[in-house]
Amino acid sequence: MPTSPSSSADDAELSAEEMASSAADAAKVTLGDLQMELNRLQRTVRLTIQDRLAKLTGQSLGSLAENREMAKAIHQMLDSHGLRVQCSECGHPAILRASPRGGVANGVFVFDHTIERRRTFHGGKTVLPELRLVSKPARKQSSDRAVG
Ligand SMILES: [Zn+2]
Repeated sequence: MPTSPSSSADDAELSAEEMASSAADAAKVTLGDLQMELNRLQRTVRLTIQDRLAKLTGQSLGSLAENREMAKAIHQMLDSHGLRVQCSECGHPAILRASPRGGVANGVFVFDHTIERRRTFHGGKTVLPELRLVSKPARKQSSDRAVG
């Protein structure tokens, strides 16, 4: 396509609107690249934690209090990285807890989650179950609106 000197001069001068849109495009690319990088890092963090926690599978500590402390420490670590354990029964993201149970001295490990708006506990092993990690679900819109 032939170009006259005047039209190529016009091409070099971007309108304010064009400049804004190319800055917006550049920002989108930068943020998109960053998001991909973060997703990769997040995956590495998730798999590393999952791998290390696997060493605790099948364990029960000496008392309910100690099991609770272990479950709480695991949850706090996961929460700080935006993670949850995945319920082994239903697959929902859950919080690991140690709960008292009649006849079981050191309590049982349960998956604590909300299913169809009801707080539900699954699991119930006397030893730490195998833990699969998943991303923490996004907050519901209603609570987002309440914050804003
Ligand atoms: Zn479940």
